[in-house]
Amino acid sequence: MDRMRILDELVWLSHEIGKEERQLVILGEGNTSAYNGDGTFWVKASGHSLPTIGAEGFSLVNLETILAYLDGPVLDDQGVADALAGSLVEPGYPKPSVETFLHALCMKECGAKFIAHSHAVSVNQILCSIRGAEPFKGNICPDQIVVCGSAPAVVPYVDPGFHLALAVRDEFRRYIAVYGRSPKVLLMENHGIVSLGSTAKEAFNIQLMADKWAKILIGATTMGGIEYLSEENVERISNRLDEKYRQRILEK
Ligand SMILES: [Zn+2]
Repeated sequence: MDRMRILDELVWLSHEIGKEERQLVILGEGNTSAYNGDGTFWVKASGHSLPTIGAEGFSLVNLETILAYLDGPVLDDQGVADALAGSLVEPGYPKPSVETFLHALCMKECGAKFIAHSHAVSVNQILCSIRGAEPFKGNICPDQIVVCGSAPAVVPYVDPGFHLALAVRDEFRRYIAVYGRSPKVLLMENHGIVSLGSTAKEAFNIQLMADKWAKILIGATTMGGIEYLSEENVERISNRLDEKYRQRILEK
């Protein structure tokens, strides 16, 4: 796919995430990105709102240029602004979101092609509670496992931008070392959720299912507690051929 077709899909994803009735983002919350497969990616520019964003609301960024800053000294606010400006493919693009570092890591460390970050009300009701991300660490039903994977990546609250990206990089590397695969979901306590998709549809589906997952966790807690699936059942669901088929169909 060429860059402009990928950008069209990214605009579609952004509008879907931004629909008011979904309660995933309001105002200028959240951001989205897509990898072009040629060392560049599109990422939402600062100050745009997902429901109304158009193609002009995205910046084109060099992947390796932005990632190289994470290997250097810790940047202050001005350093971050300079790094973002210095990573643009051409200077005419708008200022990329401060979460551009995080999006680049989802592509580089995890191989994601389309990424959506939201502040979903349901998910944050749990992530902003005294239990943090802990309720998400067990599995509750086949749909959740098929769409969101059997384990989310998790980071505690970290200052958004450069410092958050460093924490996320550590977590992605730990996750891949433990599980031998990439996460589909990143939960950021007291902040929100990131979905890592191979397509725009998959990044969207993960957001929808995570929203449902969170609502079920909240409901089950009010019903006396969450009954998690056994490890044996989780293993079986993760490896069923019909569930793998369903997974592939849903991503298209
Ligand atoms: Zn955020």
